[in-house]
Amino acid sequence: MAIFKREDNKYYNMSQQFIDGMLINCPFCGTKDPHWLVAHQLRFLTNESLFSCEKCSAIIRINDADISGEACNKYTARGFFKLMERKKLKVIYVKIDDIGNVCKKYDLINTEIDIKILYDIVNNNKTI
Ligand SMILES: [Zn+2]
Repeated sequence: MAIFKREDNKYYNMSQQFIDGMLINCPFCGTKDPHWLVAHQLRFLTNESLFSCEKCSAIIRINDADISGEACNKYTARGFFKLMERKKLKVIYVKIDDIGNVCKKYDLINTEIDIKILYDIVNNNKTI
C-alpha cells in the first residue's frame, strides 16, 4: 500500500507542484481544496506518482516521465513505450485507480484518460 503525504517541504516536489497547479479542484468530489497527497511507486521499470484527494480519497496515477515532459521525446524509454502502445507522445495519461467515496462512476476505475479532460472538468467547476 502506498503511503500518501504532502510534499510541500521537500526540495524535490515536482509531482506535488504539478498536481496542485493542474487540478485545483477534485474532479471526483468537486472540493475546491483537494489538498492532494502524493505517493510514489516503481511500476514496470518506470516511476509513477499517485495522487489522492484528501476529501474523497480518489486516487489517480501518472507516470513521472509524463509529468516532467521527458516522455514527449520518443528517444526516452517512456516515450518509446508510449509509441509502442500507440499513445500520443504529448499527452499526459492519467490512470484512475479509485474514484473515491463521493463519485459513483464505477466504470472509470482502471481506465486511463488524457489529463486535459480532467483539467477542463475542474476549470468548468464540474465533476466527472
Ligand atoms: Zn475528491
